[in-house]
Amino acid sequence: MFIVLLGPPGVGKGTQAELLSQELGLPHVSSGELFREAIKAGTALGRKAQRYIDQGKLVPDKVTIAMVAERLNQPDCAGGAILDGFPRTIGQAKALDKVLAQRNASVDLVVYMNGSMEMLLQRLGGRWTCRNCQAVYHILHNPPREPGKCDLCGGELYQREDDTAETQRKRIEVYLEQTAPLVEHYRQRGLLVEINGELDIPGVYAQLRAALDRIR
Ligand code: ADP
Ligand code: ADP
Ligand code: ZN
Repeated sequence: MFIVLLGPPGVGKGTQAELLSQELGLPHVSSGELFREAIKAGTALGRKAQRYIDQGKLVPDKVTIAMVAERLNQPDCAGGAILDGFPRTIGQAKALDKVLAQRNASVDLVVYMNGSMEMLLQRLGGRWTCRNCQAVYHILHNPPREPGKCDLCGGELYQREDDTAETQRKRIEVYLEQTAPLVEHYRQRGLLVEINGELDIPGVYAQLRAALDRIR
């Protein structure tokens, strides 16, 4: 089963993907996390991606598609995956269809999460990420047990460089221009379910589970 979580930066895709991944036993595939890991490891891919990420722009399709395709072709994704942050362009959506078609699979469900601009900025502004395992916290809504320290691995929490006020706005702008068209793309194919991202974490997850139950 391949499930895509679609929505603007900060709406809670990563948080929900992690919960669903644990419940379904499917890997959580986040293109943003893959890029951040490549940057941390200092690879050529990381160097190429960094300048786009720092500016809040999308990394070019060619690079992004190759990276995600490679991830999806690993054995743990044989039974499916929860995709978070990919696809972000129509070109990426088409490439995803091709990659899955090669193994007689397809996207089963696209969950579109949305919320107000005010909410997105509030969430991005309070987001803290684990440097070690990339777990995500919120200073008010999902704080770690010990300030500055990851509950899961004890790693140091940091604020992403692309979570500055200026880059946040840029990323939301880029989302509206390049990613929002995917909503209609998937709606037309009958794959889209829309949920309200404004509720608390369990409230959003309950909607996600209900959407899943409907297609199963
Ligand atoms: P957010 O949590 O704000 O949605 P992500 O962690 O998904 O952010 O992505 C961080 C950055 O990584 C993006 O602003 C973009 O530069 C790059 N990126 C992630 N996924 C993609 C993608 N599918 N296509 C192009 N660029 C991407
Ligand atoms: P995305 O992957 O869509 O960019 P994240 O999952 O990283 O979003 O969430 C953005 C921030 O909002 C994080 O700090 C996260 O802890 C917090 N968050 C996520 N979901 C909720 C929610 N339903 N209510 C309040 N805060 C949330
Ligand atoms: Zn951690």
